Amino acid sequence: MNSLKRFFPYYGLLAPYKWPFIGALLCAVIYGVASGLGFPMVVKENIPIIFATENIFSLEQHNQAGAIVSQSSPEESLQDLLERLASEMGLSLKDAGLLYDHTVGDLKPPKDDADSVLLRTVLLLPLAILLRAVAGFLNTYLIAYCGVKVLEQVRNRVFGKLQELHIGYFQDTNRGDLLSRLMVDCNLVRQCIVEVSNSLIKEPFTFLFAFSYLVYLSLVHRENLFLLFCLAAVPICVLPIRYIGKQLARRAKQLQKQTGNVTEVASENLGAAREVRAFSLEEVEKKKFGGAVSKFLVSQLKVVKYDKSLSPLIELITGMVITAAIYFAARAQLNLRVEEVVALFLALHMCYEPIKKLGSINNQLKKGIASLDRIEEILHAPIVVEEKPDAIPLNEPAEGRLHFENVSFRYGVDTDQPVLKAIDCVLEPGKAYALVGPSGAGKSTFINLVMRFYDPVEGRILLDGIDLRDLRLRDLRHQIGLVPQDPVLFNDTIMENIRLSRPDASAEEICQAADKAHARGFIENEPDGFETIVGDRGTRLSGGQKQRIAIARAFLRNPPILILDEASSALDSESESRVQAELQSLMEGKTVLMIAHRFATLKLADEILVFEQGRITDRGDHAALMQSSSLYQKLYEKQEL
Ligand code: ATP
Repeated sequence: MNSLKRFFPYYGLLAPYKWPFIGALLCAVIYGVASGLGFPMVVKENIPIIFATENIFSLEQHNQAGAIVSQSSPEESLQDLLERLASEMGLSLKDAGLLYDHTVGDLKPPKDDADSVLLRTVLLLPLAILLRAVAGFLNTYLIAYCGVKVLEQVRNRVFGKLQELHIGYFQDTNRGDLLSRLMVDCNLVRQCIVEVSNSLIKEPFTFLFAFSYLVYLSLVHRENLFLLFCLAAVPICVLPIRYIGKQLARRAKQLQKQTGNVTEVASENLGAAREVRAFSLEEVEKKKFGGAVSKFLVSQLKVVKYDKSLSPLIELITGMVITAAIYFAARAQLNLRVEEVVALFLALHMCYEPIKKLGSINNQLKKGIASLDRIEEILHAPIVVEEKPDAIPLNEPAEGRLHFENVSFRYGVDTDQPVLKAIDCVLEPGKAYALVGPSGAGKSTFINLVMRFYDPVEGRILLDGIDLRDLRLRDLRHQIGLVPQDPVLFNDTIMENIRLSRPDASAEEICQAADKAHARGFIENEPDGFETIVGDRGTRLSGGQKQRIAIARAFLRNPPILILDEASSALDSESESRVQAELQSLMEGKTVLMIAHRFATLKLADEILVFEQGRITDRGDHAALMQSSSLYQKLYEKQEL
C-alpha cells in the first residue's frame, strides 16, 4: 500500500478520462463477479443435471413428495419420513429415498420437465463465459485507452521539464539515460498507474465473491468446511510476496540503469558514425556495446528470476495445502457431494488466482517505483536558471549595453575553481568586441552568461541597466543572435531551418536573409531548393553551408546583440571575404561579441578583450595591445588567438 501511495500524486492525470476509467473499473467488478461467483455456481448447477441418474419420477409425484416432506415435523427422523413416503405413495423404500433426493436434494428434475431444465441449466455456462469475456475485453480496452492517455501526459511532463532545465543539466547527465527515462521508464509508470489500479479492483472482487461462495457452500453442508482449511494458504503466500517484492525492487533499479547505459552507448555511436570510421573504432564500439548489453541481460535475468518465481511458489504452497485438506477429508470419510466438491475447487482456484496476481502486482509496483524514482529525478530537478514570476518583458529591441558587474562564475560544486573571476566591464551598443585568449581562459563561459545559459555565482550582468535575472528569459534570448562555430540544423527543410530564428517571417524575407548570408546560390542548386530536407543535424550539408544558414538566421532575426563564435571559420576564403562584408553590414549598430581565432576576424572588431585564467587582463585595439599585452603578442605570433 505504501508503494501505491507513491503514485497517488499522478492519479490526477486520469481526471480527464474519468468516465472510461470508471467504465473499466465497473467491467472489472463484473469480471470479478462472473469469475469468482458465476463459474463455481454454474458448475454446481450443471453437474447434477448432466451426470445424475435419470429421474424416473413424474412432476406430479415430485409435487406429492414435496407436500409430504414439507408437512413432516422437525422431530420426525429421516428413516421415518422415508418409510411414510414409501407407504403413502406406494413405492419401495429405495425409490422413496431416490425421490427424496430429487425433491429435497436438488438433483435431476422430473422427467416431464427434464429437457427444458437441462437446456436452461446448460445455457448458464456459455452465458457466464460470455459475460466474463465481454467484461474482460471492455476492461482491457478501456484500461489500454486510459494508459495511452496517461503515458502521453507523463512523457509530455518529463519532456516539458527537460526543456526548462538549464544547459548544465545536460552536460552532467548522460543522453542515452535521459532517452531511456523518457521512453522506458515513462511506460513502466503508466503500467503502474493504470494496470495496477485496475487489478487492485478486479482481483480483490474475484477473491471476495469466490471466498463468499466457499463460505456459503461450507455453511450449507458442514462436510465442506474442511476445504476452508485450504484458504490457510492465503496468509502463508504473503511471505514470499513480500520477500520477492523487496528483492525485485533493487534489481529493477539496476535494470533501469543498465537500459539507460545501452541506450547511451547506442546513441553516442550513432551520433558519431564518422568519427567511429575515421578512428577505426568499430571493434572497440562493438565491444563497448556488447559489454553494456551483457550487463543489461544479467540484470534482466535477475529481474525475471524473481518476477517469475512468485507464481510457481504460490502454486506450490496452495497445492500442498489442498493435498493436505483432501487427505484429511478422505481419512475422515466425509459425506461429500461431487458437484459441490467440484464447485468448491473451482471457487478455491478463483481465490488463488487473485492472490497470485496480487503478488505479481506487487512486483510490478516495485518495478514501477524504480522507474518513478528515475522520472522524478528529472521532474524534481531544480530549475537553476529560473524566470521570476514578475519578470520584466522586453517587447521592443534593446539598446544593447551590457555591463558585467564584478561577475564570478564556476561550473558545478563550490569546491571547483572559478572559471570567471570578478569580471568588471561594459560593452557599448554599436561596438564589436573580439574575445581572445588561450584555450580554457573563459571566453565561451563569458558568452554563456550573456545568453543566460548559466547565472553568475557572484555579481550581476545588466542589459540596458536591468539585471538579466529580472528579464523574461524568452525576451532576453530574442535580443541575441547566435552564430556558433558548428551550427546544429533540425531535420527539416532549409526554409524552416532559417525561419526558426523568426517564426513569423515570410518566405520572401527568408530568401533575402539567405541572399545576405551568401547562401542562396548553394540553396538554389539543391534539388528542392529551399524545400530541401537537410538530414539529421544537417548532415547532408557541408560545414560551410551550415554556417551560412546560421548566418542567414542572424540576418533574419536582426537582433541588437550578436554573438559570433568564429562564425566564418568553415567558409572558403572567397565566401569568407564576401560573408565578412555582409557580416559587417549585419553588425552595424549592434553590440557584437566575437570569439576570434584568426586575425581576419579581429579586423572586424572595434576593441579586443584579452582573457587569461578567467579574467580580462587587457583590452584595446590591435595596435595598442601589441604594445601593452605580452600575452596578446604571444598569441598573435603563434596564431593561437
Ligand atoms: P576555448 O578557446 O578552448 O573554447 P574558452 O576560453 O572558451 O576555451 P571555456 O569553454 O569558457 O574556455 O572554459 C573555461 C573553463 O571552464 C575550462 O577550464 C573548462 O574546462 C571549464 N568548463 C567549460 N565548460 C564546462 C562545464 N560544462 N562543466 C565544467 N567545466 C567546464
